[in-house]
Amino acid sequence: MTIPTEATVYNFIGGEWRRSETSDTVEILNPATGEPISRLPLAGPPDVSRAIQAAKAAFPAWRRTPPQDRIQYLFRLRRLLEENFGEIARLITTENGKTLAESRAEVQRGIENVEVACGIPTLMQGYNLEDVASGIDEIMIRQPLGVVAAITAFNFPAMIPLWFLPYAIACGNTFILKQSERVPLTAQKLFSLLAETGLPPGVVNLVVGAKPAVDALLAHPDVKAISFVGSTPVARYIYAEGCAHGKRVQCQGGAKNHVVIMPDADLETTAKIVSDSAFGCAGQRCLAVSTAITVGESSQKFRDAIVDLASTLRVGNGIEEATQMGPVISNASKTRIEGLIAKALERGGKALLDGRQPRIPDGDRGSFVKPTVLAGLSPADEISSTEVFGPVLALHHAHDLDEAIEQLSVSAYGNAASIFTTSGVSARKFRYEAPAGNVGVNIGVAAPMAYFPFSGWKDSFFGVLHGQGRDGVEFYTDKKVSIERWPKEWSRKF
Ligand code: NAD
Repeated sequence: MTIPTEATVYNFIGGEWRRSETSDTVEILNPATGEPISRLPLAGPPDVSRAIQAAKAAFPAWRRTPPQDRIQYLFRLRRLLEENFGEIARLITTENGKTLAESRAEVQRGIENVEVACGIPTLMQGYNLEDVASGIDEIMIRQPLGVVAAITAFNFPAMIPLWFLPYAIACGNTFILKQSERVPLTAQKLFSLLAETGLPPGVVNLVVGAKPAVDALLAHPDVKAISFVGSTPVARYIYAEGCAHGKRVQCQGGAKNHVVIMPDADLETTAKIVSDSAFGCAGQRCLAVSTAITVGESSQKFRDAIVDLASTLRVGNGIEEATQMGPVISNASKTRIEGLIAKALERGGKALLDGRQPRIPDGDRGSFVKPTVLAGLSPADEISSTEVFGPVLALHHAHDLDEAIEQLSVSAYGNAASIFTTSGVSARKFRYEAPAGNVGVNIGVAAPMAYFPFSGWKDSFFGVLHGQGRDGVEFYTDKKVSIERWPKEWSRKF
């Protein structure tokens, strides 16, 4: 099956490309140039309902397909992702804006999840014990749930779907992706590759819509589990609604990540790593550092180094290899980010670097905000507690590590936190006490590998089992315990 050639985005349902049954369309713009790149007919409840029917119909045969056979499709997907690596990266850059290097890194991270899910014949195993009572054995097995769905964010159009899809189908579920309506093209490419693997129709389905499509998934009794990645208000809503409809739900929400810089850190290297973390992907990563807390006398040197680095970043169209930072996703996002910066300055903050209204060659219609470094803010200021999701770094100060950790503690979010230090004592204290689920020690972006859980805390996560790795397997399976007695005297004599 080949991808349709028109610049219109289609759903993939029951093994076929289908246009949404809707007259609502949205134009997809290249965030670097402002040019239209495709038109998306927004999938609505009838499309979602059709996808659920297709997934439900495919489930009985798929769950009976041996795990060893199920993963053969994932091995094929892995090969196809490798073969189409460059094209996928270009699509991501075109519709999301991040640089080509960032897009390639994202595809690589996605592939790693496919690789981990290929271990399902081992990962999905249960356990057992003979003679739990005399002559009685007990076994625990894992079984798939049925139809499961993922609702995803715009900022990693390839990787985020792959946090869920490979585990879900390898465990024997059938799957629906509700891709972010802001980045439909990457998902369309991903599903054209899934179609090429020869997966039976209905095992994987794609719908691209907005809130009505999400609500249709949440309310439908045949959807057994929902995975979500996006902002905290939507995560909270989806968690509440999904649970109210009796579903298993995991929701990864927004973030406000802190880095603590101890005076014993190598400040030049630290500044380089923090700059990559804060301004990489134009700050649109849920693991991006947005607040740097210098401790003791590290303040001035770090401040000078980070401003120096941030001011020299080459900002432009990510499709050009030399670009180091691309645009944010849309003009609406740019306006929101610039508004937050303006408010912070009105409240007495100081811009050590102000990236608003930048001049970018050939970028007049692009959604560019240049790296911005703010100081002089109090933890009570709006920008200190709001997820900016743009290239804005706020500098704070603390007298000691306890005070720095206290600053983290007041944040509603708990996605990631890092410390930079050469002291094992400080590092261990931080790992022990930091109120965040992904902790970095001398790491700028504390991104767990595919075989570890993506462990947000507090308002950055709603649920129990996280995405990726063993948590993914637990999430997509139900445990069943069988207690068995086979008395000798019942056996027929042959
Ligand atoms: P978003 O919340 O606007 O959208 C996410 C998904 O929810 C999309 O598919 C969208 O169609 C849907 N949606 C949006 N509004 C909805 C509503 N009112 N009701 C039902 N569904 C709705 O998020 P985004 O702007 O696409 O992504 C950025 C956010 O995602 C940031 O907050 C970022 O921190 C977060 N994020 C978190 C993680 C993580 O692992 N914790 C990873 C990536 C991104």
